[in-house]
Amino acid sequence: MARALIIGCGAVATVAIKKCCTCSEVFSEICIASRHRENCEKLAQELRPNTKTVITTAAVDADKAENVVKLIKEYKPDLVMNIALPYQDLAIMDACLECGVNYMDTANYEPENIDDPEWRKVYDKRCKEQGFSAYFDYSWQWAYKEKFEKAGLTALLGSGFDPGVSQAYCAYALKHQFDTIEEIDILDCNGGDHGYKFATNFNPEINLREVSAPGSYWDTDANGKGHWVEIPAMSIKREYVFDEVGKKDMYLLHHEEIESLAQNIPGVKRIRFFMTFGQSYLDHMRCLEDVGMLSTQPIKFQGQEIVPIQFLKALLPDPASLGPRTVGKTNIGCIFKGTKDGKPKTYYLYNVCDHQECYKELGSQAIAYTTGVPAMCGAMMVLTGKWNKPGVHTVEEFDPDPFMEALTKYGLPWKENFNPVLVD
Ligand code: NDP
Repeated sequence: MARALIIGCGAVATVAIKKCCTCSEVFSEICIASRHRENCEKLAQELRPNTKTVITTAAVDADKAENVVKLIKEYKPDLVMNIALPYQDLAIMDACLECGVNYMDTANYEPENIDDPEWRKVYDKRCKEQGFSAYFDYSWQWAYKEKFEKAGLTALLGSGFDPGVSQAYCAYALKHQFDTIEEIDILDCNGGDHGYKFATNFNPEINLREVSAPGSYWDTDANGKGHWVEIPAMSIKREYVFDEVGKKDMYLLHHEEIESLAQNIPGVKRIRFFMTFGQSYLDHMRCLEDVGMLSTQPIKFQGQEIVPIQFLKALLPDPASLGPRTVGKTNIGCIFKGTKDGKPKTYYLYNVCDHQECYKELGSQAIAYTTGVPAMCGAMMVLTGKWNKPGVHTVEEFDPDPFMEALTKYGLPWKENFNPVLVD
């Protein structure tokens, strides 16, 4: 019996909220809050007749910690589930600390304005020291470790699919399948087709920033020292045949869980992340980038200030509206190479999810589904005390078993392959 404050009511949050409402014994009360309360209320009205979970709604602008503090003081939740945007992570963490409440999110912090000189200073230093230049990284949230530890509060970072389930798969492989893991390839395949020439499956601004950033991976030199290798965006391409999806082109991207896995999987030598893209998506993205439409820098247009990528977001289909028209499947998982009982071993742990099945069940496409379900399951782990460790932690730092059990129960069962085709 617990009370959760859920910030965000978009594509991913809607799935998480719907799943919370099927588990009222844990989520006995939830408050859905975002800037546009009417969206939260619309969803609440749809759900109230069929759930025992008591649902309230609120308006909050979570860009400012004081607004979140005010709402937390009124609602008194046991956990704040941040399923808004990565821009709000730090403000919501500050509010949780001030009010003594546990925290979770689905994506690591990045600033809305990457031209902010204060942020730039830290960013430029990190690029030089670490060797990767994506706008997002864990340093901002890891800086809260001691504060959360001292306050006796748990902050669970990145409880979506990737990051999230991908890290639980790593923890599971290490616990049950390997003595040592040397290489991890995380493969994210979306074999879905929504029929549009160009649309993003989750928030376009966050998605396009991620995909247009230079790629990078973790590697180890001859002296055993781990380091980042950065490559131009989309410059490493592989072809892979995915179970239940078929042959797809995939590209090496920088991804946030590589950063934490490199620290938390002892002895790991190489970690890469690949995502599939169709040619039409890539052609459109390159063109939009070339003409400046992915810029976050405000420009003056007919006497008004607009941010190009925000204008683009307004033109693109809302990811939450893709559900009815998306057909096909996702296949997301990790291929491991390591040793067990002194012998070399390879192992592939993955989930396959069908867009239309997700739509039939919850009215959402599989990208929102595969992120929203782990968000709810991660929250459940914290609320039931199974994942209760003061500090700031990523998913692989916790026992994967109860989480994976919950994933299976709430719609994301895993599959295994003990002789996978490896990625060269
Ligand atoms: P959407 O754009 O669909 O929804 C974002 C929600 O956040 C909206 O309800 C919006 O409501 C709310 N929001 C935005 N700004 C604020 C604010 N200042 N204060 C309060 N609420 C705010 O995004 P998605 O659902 O697609 O994505 C949600 C999160 O999930 C993102 O952080 C994304 O990066 C992450 N994600 C993680 C994945 C993973 O596997 N780990 C995969 C896919 C996504 P309103 O406008 O009313 O404020």
